[in-house]
Amino acid sequence: MNETRPPIVTILGHVDHGKTTLLDFIRKSAVASKEHGGITQHIGAYQIRVQNIEDKGQKSRKSHESKSVTSNLITFIDTPGHAAFEKMRSRGAKVADIAVLVVAIDDGVMPQTVEAIKHIQEAKVPLIVAVNKIDLFEIDKKIQLAKLKKQLSDQKINLEEYGGDVPLVPISAKTGEGVDKLLETINLVAELSEIKSDPALPAAGVVIEANLDKFKGPIATVLIRDGTLKKGDQIMLGGAKGKIRGLFDFNGKALDTAGPSTPVEVLGLKTVPSVGAILGELAEVKEAEAIQSLVDKLKQGSTKTLKVLIKADKQGSLEAIQASLDKLNEDKQVIDFKFSGTGDIGDKNIKLASTIGAIVVGFNVKVVPTAAKLAETEHVLIRTYNIIYELLDDIEEVVQTLLEVGQLEEVTGKANIIAEFPHGKIEKIAGCRTIEGMIAKGQRIRIVHEGKIIGETKIKSLKKVKEEVNKVEKGNDCGMLFDPPVDFVIGDIVESFRVI
Ligand code: GDP
Repeated sequence: MNETRPPIVTILGHVDHGKTTLLDFIRKSAVASKEHGGITQHIGAYQIRVQNIEDKGQKSRKSHESKSVTSNLITFIDTPGHAAFEKMRSRGAKVADIAVLVVAIDDGVMPQTVEAIKHIQEAKVPLIVAVNKIDLFEIDKKIQLAKLKKQLSDQKINLEEYGGDVPLVPISAKTGEGVDKLLETINLVAELSEIKSDPALPAAGVVIEANLDKFKGPIATVLIRDGTLKKGDQIMLGGAKGKIRGLFDFNGKALDTAGPSTPVEVLGLKTVPSVGAILGELAEVKEAEAIQSLVDKLKQGSTKTLKVLIKADKQGSLEAIQASLDKLNEDKQVIDFKFSGTGDIGDKNIKLASTIGAIVVGFNVKVVPTAAKLAETEHVLIRTYNIIYELLDDIEEVVQTLLEVGQLEEVTGKANIIAEFPHGKIEKIAGCRTIEGMIAKGQRIRIVHEGKIIGETKIKSLKKVKEEVNKVEKGNDCGMLFDPPVDFVIGDIVESFRVI
């Protein structure tokens, strides 16, 4: 089940604007970093504990009951402007949940500030502006702040005080003024962003530091975004594989497990992974295997359509999905519904899918654990969704992949055979009416008789009335001559298709 997890925060901004000073201040003043009394080590990220605003008041009233005070953890990536941030962006995944943009009040918006804003906006990460070094301007602080706000607005940052959604917090990383407020703001933004994950899942995360230690061998810091990493787990980080021998937090404390949002040092890899490598790729490998097996099955089959087995929670959703997929099918005609029904995805569904080479699509349903195992051994691709358009997007992607590897055929046109005329001694011309798409000369076609394919051939000659043409579009009549000749009868369908 999805649970709220601590926000992962990155600090960005122009050089010398105070990012390192701020991260050091937070780390030193924070509770969690002192929790184990250990010497904090730099593993690329750390966690701190912050009390909630309301709870602070509560605490002062009944300080002896301080246990009732709730607190939140925040994870900071402690390499400012971390390279992983950039890499993750290009992979479409995000490392951080919240970005803090540090701008020094004396300097204002500088080139790297603009650059950072661009990254943040592209990654669509919620932003908080921390205006730093306010200790420098005790007297004309207000004027300086107003100038800075104007500069930020020019960069399309919609500050809260002007009706936007970006909070601005004046701070001094040197004296600590305003840092509490910044942490509270991070908590508030985190709450609004509903940052969640499921600790019961296998871990997924990203490498934020990696090196080769003389004594310990390859070491990587993984920032867990979802699920839980356990000692003994087999993992794959990009190309680096291994079995986890040791897990350590930023205090150097050995852990047995590391849950969502925890930065954790991992020992046991065979090689050093690259920064930005993604953990959780085993799932991707499995999916690739399932696609591969699908391709193999398509190769063996006579028809090259994507067979889909759909399971949904209700009959209503099932119909809605089929109707939407039918639309996708209207243009490409590559999907073949083999079976659909309501209820969870079970062993029987997987067995059927495996036999006929289908993918299994679930909507608002669960996969029975034994079925999930079976799907793994049988290499059956299962995809489950809660949102219809995501389901459609994904199916389109699978279709595209299969088209690209040449294992799906896209039907490009259909024609009804409405007459036949002898041509020479053995050949005959099919008098056709194009009913879908377009039929072109030279194209591969098959003859479908009562729903069954009876032959595959090519169009040697295509005539509209008496004139030889290259193509005939929907709604037009034409005469076709096939090479090699095929035996057809009136009422059969000519289906043209292409394999990319
Ligand atoms: P970074 O390049 O963004 O990581 O910047 P640093 O944290 O290294 O800070 C650059 C310089 O600004 C250092 O000399 C800091 O001591 C100084 N500095 C950072 N924060 C403050 C602040 O709040 N007030 C003042 N007066 N100086 C600061």
